[in-house]
Amino acid sequence: MIPHQSHPFWLIAAGALVAGVILVLLAQRMRRVRGLASGRTLALDDVTLYSSRYRLSGRPDRIVRVGKAIVPEEWKSAKRLWPGHIAQMGVYFLLIEERYGVRPAYGYVVLGTGNRHRIENDARLRSWVLDLADQVRDARAKLREPIGVSPRPAQCRACGQRGNCSQRAD
Ligand code: SF4
Repeated sequence: MIPHQSHPFWLIAAGALVAGVILVLLAQRMRRVRGLASGRTLALDDVTLYSSRYRLSGRPDRIVRVGKAIVPEEWKSAKRLWPGHIAQMGVYFLLIEERYGVRPAYGYVVLGTGNRHRIENDARLRSWVLDLADQVRDARAKLREPIGVSPRPAQCRACGQRGNCSQRAD
């Protein structure tokens, strides 16, 4: 029999247990309301991923492990899904594959409305994103190339850069 003076302890323990269950239920409800998936959170906007192979980087809002799968989640305040959101998810797929050695099969874009859009990591998205990455690399490489101009000689005569310029018109 439990001694009379131990009742407060059991009451406190029971109260803590009930409070714990309520907190877990509230957390689950909050996750559902915010559109978050269940699973073990590997990163919560605190891991920046880099790919030396593709020269890309990105920081998913959340990376979740669900069983053996890894699922990125990105939250957007937008009310509709834009192509840029899908491209961003495609970049995350490449980065996660390189970092964790697991190719995500899908990810979620969670909109401001709470709607979850499942983005499939299929061959079409992969090739589109790799093509975009090529274009970004080309654009970066061209940043140092001079832009072709056709100045009038009078403009160049008054220009303070004429001594450094290979395109000056004499
Ligand atoms: S000297 Fe070169 S930079 Fe200056 S006006 Fe001519 S083309 Fe342009």
